[in-house]
Amino acid sequence: MGIIRLKNVSKFYYSKGIIASGISKVNLDLDLGEFVVITGESGSGKSTLLNVISGLDTYEEGEMYIEGQETSHYTATDFENYRQKYISCIFQSFNLVSSYTVYQNIALAMQIDGYDAAEIKKKVLDIIEKVGLSEYKNRKVSKLSGGQKQRVAIARALAKDTRILVADEPTGNLDSDSAEGIVELLTKISADKLVIVVTHNYEQFKDHATRVIKMHDGKIVEDSGASDTPLISNAVLPLGNRAARTEEQKTKKKRNSIGYGTQLRLGIRNTFNLPAKLLLLLLVFIFVTSAVSAQYVTVKKQGDTVSEQGRNNYFENYNPKRIVVEKADGSAFTRADYKALENAEHVEKLIKEDIIYDTSIYIENNEFSFYGYMMDLASLTEEPTLGGLPEKDDEVVLTGYDDGWSFGDEPKKLIGKTYKVSLNDGTEKKVKIAGIVLRDYAEDEGSDMITTTLESDIYFTDKMIEEMRRDMYASGSTTTMLINSHEVRLTPGEGGLVTNENVPEGYILLPTDYDPEFKEGYAAGKEVKLTAKNLYYEQSLDLMIMGTYGQKTFEKKTGLKNIAEHNGEVFMNPTDYRRLYEKGSFQASVFVDNTKNLEGMKDMLERGGYRALILKDHIYNFMDEDIVRIIQLPLAVVVCLAVFFIAYFVIRLILKSRGVYFATARMLGMGKSPASRIMRVELVIVAIISYALFFAFVYMSRMGIINNEKLMDYVTYLTVRDYVILAVILMVMAILISGRFMRTIFRSSAMGAFREEV
Ligand code: ADP
Ligand code: MG
Repeated sequence: MGIIRLKNVSKFYYSKGIIASGISKVNLDLDLGEFVVITGESGSGKSTLLNVISGLDTYEEGEMYIEGQETSHYTATDFENYRQKYISCIFQSFNLVSSYTVYQNIALAMQIDGYDAAEIKKKVLDIIEKVGLSEYKNRKVSKLSGGQKQRVAIARALAKDTRILVADEPTGNLDSDSAEGIVELLTKISADKLVIVVTHNYEQFKDHATRVIKMHDGKIVEDSGASDTPLISNAVLPLGNRAARTEEQKTKKKRNSIGYGTQLRLGIRNTFNLPAKLLLLLLVFIFVTSAVSAQYVTVKKQGDTVSEQGRNNYFENYNPKRIVVEKADGSAFTRADYKALENAEHVEKLIKEDIIYDTSIYIENNEFSFYGYMMDLASLTEEPTLGGLPEKDDEVVLTGYDDGWSFGDEPKKLIGKTYKVSLNDGTEKKVKIAGIVLRDYAEDEGSDMITTTLESDIYFTDKMIEEMRRDMYASGSTTTMLINSHEVRLTPGEGGLVTNENVPEGYILLPTDYDPEFKEGYAAGKEVKLTAKNLYYEQSLDLMIMGTYGQKTFEKKTGLKNIAEHNGEVFMNPTDYRRLYEKGSFQASVFVDNTKNLEGMKDMLERGGYRALILKDHIYNFMDEDIVRIIQLPLAVVVCLAVFFIAYFVIRLILKSRGVYFATARMLGMGKSPASRIMRVELVIVAIISYALFFAFVYMSRMGIINNEKLMDYVTYLTVRDYVILAVILMVMAILISGRFMRTIFRSSAMGAFREEV
């Protein structure tokens, strides 16, 4: 029984609703050693028969046996294995990879079979010599003549070294001289193989054929010299010899499948050997990279903008550019600290007296009252529109809108008058208005920063602020007096702990109520410990009790008149009082020039020994950032998907030529998974290059080599994590697209893929 047997095999073509018969009810038995020539007029089914035999096309009816094995249950993969193992093809249309060199084309056949590199090299060079192409071995196939191409195709078939060699019109496109050379070459290699040649030019082969099959209308009409005829001259091969040959084939270092290293190398070669295609692919990927990352940046930026519109319960003045700063060791700010903060890059302004910054206060008299944030004069950047800057410590500058409401109809009249400031602890101070900064209401309306902060401020001199800060620390502290191991809570301010110039430093004056604390019945000369404790520090003072005051001694000891107004007050020297409450400033605020610099500034501060709190991160939004993400994210996903689809179709167009490549590789027996991997390597490389280019641009923008606002946004908003995510998205896209592309290629039979692509 022959190596190939066909029993009543039929093949139909379905195209556009019409069924055409390719071959019908063909019976055929082919054996090794035969040189079969199939002839017949055009359209008689020669090619169809050959394609069915070589497993390039499916058949619909009958049975085909390969070495006795029935094939009707064969899958595409089975046929690929069959082709890889048994079949070498030579076509009229050559089916070579035109962007590969002669050497690479021939080597490809062996690589697909999994030979190792050294063996491939030796054999390929040998075969190139044999087909007489030595001087062209490194020339691209696209630059060869038809005869040379056909030689390459034959060389490839030789390299594959299978037992069956099929050739469809191998001389069809050649002049008679070239044709003759090809016929001789085929004859030379046909010795122990089954060679099947389709031709309509029988004359060329008649001297070499052992068997002639004539076809007509899809049927075999003549079959001369069939198997039972003894095999002729050059095809005769003793059986023993054949066995030896099979043995030899087994010992070859053959893995039977293409190695991973080879797949990688082919993928890399395919990426770079068509520069125009590479460039187009790069453009598409760069487009995708920028589109996806732009979406990404938009979403992140959106979140930032939203948080500029929120509010916060702890800090009244929730300017989004504000960072609240403390020393990491909890100490007070020094002049050097202020200087460093003020001069740091991206610092727009520094608020030294931060603790008062969140305090809104009234100044008022009978005619006018004004409400604003307490600010220090050093942070006033504008010149007063009316009046001037303070010359005395008790003078202030007001800023606000010139809307006829803040300052009344005649703001000028307010200047120089005295007003009362009411503070937290109930004390009052007197101030005069030195100047007013009138802001144009319309001017600010267009600004994109919407805040609900007060737009009016009251600027005080350093001296005033220091006093007020001391009062604030005093009222913000828990103050206790330890007297005869008994702890008494004191409240700074009227009715509690107050200052008095008549009390010397180191002493304290108490009401007579404290005398019974001691068993002697009087407190004078005894010691007490005063302790002030607040958020920032704890300070103790050891004082001696100067004495106690009663109804009669009050005026003499304090210099004050009416004891009824000072009921129970504890008096101490102002210097001691300052020791307790004037410990400097423990909290400052810096304002960055742009909210995108907040994170960088926070990092810098923390490295410099400060604690930093970005206020906008601690804000309750009326429109939550999450809500924005919920709206923005699906939108971004939709845009990205659209980009992917566009990219997919463009890439498919660009890769059209790849279809021929993979059909060729399939014809040589390459399976779907190695083919997919080769494709994947190619797209992943392109993705990596595009990503690297994108990264290079962002980096150059960061280094200031190129100046582009859009790119700067990437620099500011993308973190390492984002770059990783972006890389992953690109890789996944490359892999998905290559997968989809390979599925379309492998959907039909090998021949079908050819027909679609060529
Ligand atoms: P030959 O190689 O002898 O010229 P073919 O095997 O190519 O003949 O064609 C045999 C028959 O099948 C012809 O009638 C042809 O029209 C038909 N045929 C071949 N290929 C296709 C195809 N892809 N689609 C539809 N009909 C086809
Ligand atoms: Mg044909």
